[in-house]
Amino acid sequence: MPLDVLKQVQDEFLDFNGTGMSIVEISHRSTAYQDMHDDTIYMLRKLLQIPEQYDIIFMQGGGSLQFVMHAANFLHHSGGYINTGVWSDKAMKAASFYGKVYEVASSKEDHFTYIPKPESFHVEEGTDYVYMTSNNTIHGTEWHHFPSFDVPLFCDMSSDFLSRPVDVTNFDFIYAGIQKNVGPAGAVIGIIKDSLLQKARTKLPLMLQYKTYVEHDSTYNTPPVFNIYFVNKVCHWLDDHGGLAAMEDTNKKKAAIVYGAIDESNGFYSGHAQRDSRSRMNVTFNLPTEELEKQFITEAAGQHIIGIKGHRSLGGCRASIYNAVTSEGCQKLADFMKAFHQKH
Ligand SMILES: *Cc1c(COP(=O)(O)O)cnc(C)c1O
Repeated sequence: MPLDVLKQVQDEFLDFNGTGMSIVEISHRSTAYQDMHDDTIYMLRKLLQIPEQYDIIFMQGGGSLQFVMHAANFLHHSGGYINTGVWSDKAMKAASFYGKVYEVASSKEDHFTYIPKPESFHVEEGTDYVYMTSNNTIHGTEWHHFPSFDVPLFCDMSSDFLSRPVDVTNFDFIYAGIQKNVGPAGAVIGIIKDSLLQKARTKLPLMLQYKTYVEHDSTYNTPPVFNIYFVNKVCHWLDDHGGLAAMEDTNKKKAAIVYGAIDESNGFYSGHAQRDSRSRMNVTFNLPTEELEKQFITEAAGQHIIGIKGHRSLGGCRASIYNAVTSEGCQKLADFMKAFHQKH
């Protein structure tokens, strides 16, 4: 999280907007809350230029509940999945509960080191939607050009949401668990096209229907108030810093600093992702031996470089350089990588 945002949250924690109460104490039916809720939607619309025919909703249950919910609502016959890693794999498995699922494309046979090319896509007849993951948090790959299809396109944008401008109209449904770039864990932002909503299954518990969230402006039950408040702060922070185009610019430069350290190491550091598929959010790499990787992670922690151990399912190292990580932070990591390489 941006330090400015954390400080603002701290400053206002005991008195939200002159109410004399904390944001976690006021009623979600109060005007003070409702104004903030509306402003958050307004800010998301502004930052991503979301057209009117899309609704913006807030849900709970994390990204993983969306693995189930998208299929519960929209999988009538079959769902096509572009399998680019752990998260899409999980979504496909969860969705199979509701109908037939198949791979439109996959990079599994090559350890998810790349984003599949459109030439390799095959969409079967009768497909309800194609599902993809914009950034593969664990393997460190990211889509740099989005594909389009004749069927509705769904996208899990959990780990690169608000890190760059996105043409929302290319998608029918976008969702993002907010904990990577936008706020505390637990809440999910959904962006859903009206025409898609009409195709949703209605024989479902109300809390599992997207329609319930749309029709009740995400306040059918108590929304995740604190999370939404946080999203609000981050949206304003982004807006104050030039919006998503400026953010993308910064993120490109940040990623270039860290990938530069990999590329200039003569193979001492080897990147997991193929060059044209590299993520600007999660830089994954290995060292020559597991022994060195352990040492690297320990010594990095000594320099206050924290959390660069790779995901437990992949091993190696991973630098997550989300929006709030500064260029200076990335430079510090790159310098550390060079020094460690020289020493070993
Ligand atoms: C983290 C993550 C998830 C899982 O989110 P949870 O809130 O832990 O369920 C899903 N998709 C992507 C791309 C992620 O990075």
